[in-house]
Amino acid sequence: MAEMEILGAKISDYDMVETVCSAAAMIDVGRAAAAAAGGAEGEPVAHQIVTLNAEILYKAQTDPKLLEVINQAELVTPDGSGIVMAAQKLCNRQIERVTGIDLMLELCRQSAACGWQIYLLGAKPGVAEAAAQNLHSQYGANICGWHDGYFGEDEQAWIIGEINEKKPDILFVGLGAPRQEFWISENRSRLRVPLLIGVGGCFDVISGNLKRAPLLFQRLGLEWLWRLLKEPWRFGRMLALPKFVLLVNQEQRAKRRLAAANQPQPGVRLQQNAGQNGKKEKKLPQ
Ligand code: UDP
Repeated sequence: MAEMEILGAKISDYDMVETVCSAAAMIDVGRAAAAAAGGAEGEPVAHQIVTLNAEILYKAQTDPKLLEVINQAELVTPDGSGIVMAAQKLCNRQIERVTGIDLMLELCRQSAACGWQIYLLGAKPGVAEAAAQNLHSQYGANICGWHDGYFGEDEQAWIIGEINEKKPDILFVGLGAPRQEFWISENRSRLRVPLLIGVGGCFDVISGNLKRAPLLFQRLGLEWLWRLLKEPWRFGRMLALPKFVLLVNQEQRAKRRLAAANQPQPGVRLQQNAGQNGKKEKKLPQ
């Protein structure tokens, strides 16, 4: 895999097929580690996949802990069209979107053939169960358990115990981003599950409670607009999207200036307007 670094986050350039192969390899490694440990604590078992969008990457610019969690994941996929645009502008790379929901459905589709067991954690009571039924009937997925995402600190140990007891190969966590990424990162050492993936509001869509953007919106990279129309309360959160675009443009200009300044130009004395360490100070768009 050729990883790209975009605004401090390491993001994979895998397409969907490669991402699923990578996930399968993580499950194999995690299963082997769990078997070697014989159910006891010890060998780390869990791998984390983050499906990253522009809103969360923008948030991570001012939240070093979040950026650390993102970079500690074994794989970070480009979930949103903002990330795809940033890869083009900052790394000159054409990459494919690998969204949380598409990855989840693809892994569920594969689960029957590969013998993977799946656990769903998140969403309002009843939603994960309805999603589990649809995943089983439509994709043949083996769902070994589910729990809603509204639990207190005092219930957490019990929930982790119940997940470990059911021995899933994949745990989909739908607590909303970035809460789910923090939850996974904090609990991965206790979870005896090979693969952990944060999937935001996917259970709401798969259960049929929320309609996903029509294909045209998806193809035009306008899924955010659809979500805004359906859930206007997202307006505040979505202000991060234009700010992200401004930040990417700012970074692109800085990169170009640096590249131009580093071009050998005989007879011309170059004046770099960069700081001491060769980087311009970054300001977030307000
Ligand atoms: N959620 C949850 N527990 C909470 C808060 C939220 O399980 O304490 C669920 C919520 O019901 C929804 C999902 O997390 O299913 C958040 O969806 P959203 O679309 O906001 O997440 P995003 O896809 O934007 O990360």
